[in-house]
Amino acid sequence: MEAALFVAWFEEAARLVRADRDRLTRLDAAIGDADHGTNLDRGLTEVLKALADTAIESEAQVLTTAGATLIRRVGGASGPLYGSLFRQMGKALETPVTLAGFAAAFEEGVVAVERLGKAALGDKTMVDALAPASRALALAVRDGVGVREALDQAARAAADGSKATIPMRARKGRASYLGERSIGHEDPGAASSALFMAALATVAG
Ligand code: ADP
Ligand code: MG
Repeated sequence: MEAALFVAWFEEAARLVRADRDRLTRLDAAIGDADHGTNLDRGLTEVLKALADTAIESEAQVLTTAGATLIRRVGGASGPLYGSLFRQMGKALETPVTLAGFAAAFEEGVVAVERLGKAALGDKTMVDALAPASRALALAVRDGVGVREALDQAARAAADGSKATIPMRARKGRASYLGERSIGHEDPGAASSALFMAALATVAG
């Protein structure tokens, strides 16, 4: 896993989010304020600009640059949350990057999101996609699975985790104001987290 792969991750994530921008915004319209797709699309455009303007020296720097940009440029809850995910991952990532090292850094990133958002599994947030992805990566490392298969498993876990938010009642974020009425809709942040993991599996494939 090299710096170019991490840049490609954000390029592919930006592409997927742009393609699904209206779906993400529709999900947020149902249980939030209809800005998640546009928030993230704008944020990732800023990330790609920042990456192009920075002399990238390491994998970690790609992640910290992306994280700092998302914190600075994306309003709403998801900017600081995704920003913390990538910044913490960048801080934790050791060089040379191995699958085990990546899985450990990703887990630290997810813990940072859980801390900042005070969210746990089952609260109907991005954590419901990110935490299963992290667990899938840890299991893949334990089982000695190759990088490509490991990232595929993480992407599947994130997608399944996102779908699993549909019957949940939101306990964090804007959707929690709806109480019972948040039931029956997929969480937009979980859906975008699944896109991030799909993007990583694609560029590593
Ligand atoms: P906002 O809710 O401020 O409009 P976005 O629409 O961009 O921000 O993002 C909403 C998403 O952010 C939610 O779908 C959820 O996944 C995530 N989110 C919101 N609050 C929290 C929280 N406290 N912890 C974890 N994730 C959260
Ligand atoms: Mg919103």
